[in-house]
Amino acid sequence: MATRCPATDKPPSESCIGTNGWHAVLPSPKSFSRLEGSQTADWLVIGGGYSGLAAARRLAETVPSDRIVVLEALRIGDGPAGRSSGFMIDLPHKLDSDSYTGSVEADRRQTIRNRLAIDFVRRVIDEDGLDPAIQYRTGKVNAAATEHGDTLLAAYRNHLDALSEPYETLGADEMLALTGSRYYRSGILTPQSALLHPAAYLCDLAEALSRRGVVIHENSAVTQFTEGPPHVVRTEHGQLTVPKVILAVNGAVAAFGHFKRRLMDVFTFASLTRALTEEETKSLGGEPFWGVLPADPMGTTLRRLSGPVYGGTRVLVRNRFILGSKGSAFEGRPINVITRQQRESFDNRYPALAHVPMDYVWGGRLCLSKNGATAFGEVAPGVFSAACQNGLGSVNGTLHGLLAADMATRRNCHAGLIAELTAADPPVRIPPEPITRRVGNWVIRRRETRAGMER
Ligand SMILES: Cc1cc2nc3c(=O)[nH]c(=O)nc-3n(C[C@H](O)[C@H](O)[C@H](O)COP(=O)(O)OP(=O)(O)OC[C@H]3O[C@@H](n4cnc5c(N)ncnc54)[C@H](O)[C@@H]3O)c2cc1C
Repeated sequence: MATRCPATDKPPSESCIGTNGWHAVLPSPKSFSRLEGSQTADWLVIGGGYSGLAAARRLAETVPSDRIVVLEALRIGDGPAGRSSGFMIDLPHKLDSDSYTGSVEADRRQTIRNRLAIDFVRRVIDEDGLDPAIQYRTGKVNAAATEHGDTLLAAYRNHLDALSEPYETLGADEMLALTGSRYYRSGILTPQSALLHPAAYLCDLAEALSRRGVVIHENSAVTQFTEGPPHVVRTEHGQLTVPKVILAVNGAVAAFGHFKRRLMDVFTFASLTRALTEEETKSLGGEPFWGVLPADPMGTTLRRLSGPVYGGTRVLVRNRFILGSKGSAFEGRPINVITRQQRESFDNRYPALAHVPMDYVWGGRLCLSKNGATAFGEVAPGVFSAACQNGLGSVNGTLHGLLAADMATRRNCHAGLIAELTAADPPVRIPPEPITRRVGNWVIRRRETRAGMER
């Protein structure tokens, strides 16, 4: 019997706030038409972020003669994935743990999965002729600005030893030579993470997909979903009938009737400076391209970007988490408070550049589950979910999209990884609103306060 799932209680536009600097600096992102009229397809991927485009790319590879359609509610590259900081982290990165780490065995498995996702993106960039400057394999540095940060880095280092992962310890002078900032007292460089230009990656991948025959419609929010099969989805201007659907909509999967009361919406925020002048770049010092994560997960992420695809030399700042839907999340905490806090974090690190304005400030919604589980699997006949990336969509989303596509085509590819994910516990139930939001924000605020000058 068909189940009717209205997808309108969480409009996708509610997942973003402010102007996404990554998308704004792109010279000419390709536009895709919206879905119009009544159509059919063999495959529908809903969501054009990391997971949706990875799923579509994998389908285009494994079932190239099928008709594959992607529906994205917003512009490609302007949803949460295109708003992220672009860290493709190969190592464990649990935001709910003080030092990002979990159990050694689970983290070993996670590292293998993360590296598969990084390699998939690299392969796509190579095979589809995307600009290689979209993904840098520079590694990433976890940096400490305080004694508290040093303690967390020591725990992280011990965990890397237990995992037999290579790293380099950096002192204050090496941090200065890398970042041009005297703010940091130590760092740990792990060499295998990659740094993406998130919006350029998604836009260029979408363009490459359309060259492969995948039909992409943006500004096409699914407003009604009638489960079959065949499944029928409606958007404002069109309708599509299709036997197989991949839900790659992150936390919005609950609006499609799956994993309800199990997923948490969390906003985080970023700012991008204007392009620095030559003189300012000189005064900034350091290397042209790097990414720094905070020793304390509640601290500040920093990236330096250089080159045409980044619109010149710029610095990206990311911090703050707020749990809740857009309406509730900004109650009493307008975006300008966050803008001020990000400014302060930048000025603390680069006092000589305090006059440089932020061209863009934005936020995006990510999805967390209480037990860190992903919302993955065949949730109804012919309906596959690749959702809830727990704040690390560049790797988790990419891999889950790829695996959802493999699971759906039943070609026995990546069977071990698929079995591992489907055997894992699903996201656990969370208390109803407003309890989850209030308690969650209280915990976040306490942890942010403890992070102190790591922010
Ligand atoms: C400021 C910021 C910094 C971040 N930094 C990092 C980072 O450095 N590294 C990292 O790995 N992660 C980072 N994240 C988290 C990351 O952005 C998410 O984990 C990631 O976006 C999840 O990818 P996804 O493709 O699964 O979901 P999404 O990116 O949320 O994509 C889902 C898409 O589905 C669309 N959609 C939803 N409902 C519908 C509908 N009804 N019809 C059609 N389309 C719909 C949405 O518009 C959206 O584009 C960051 C997030 C933010 C906001």
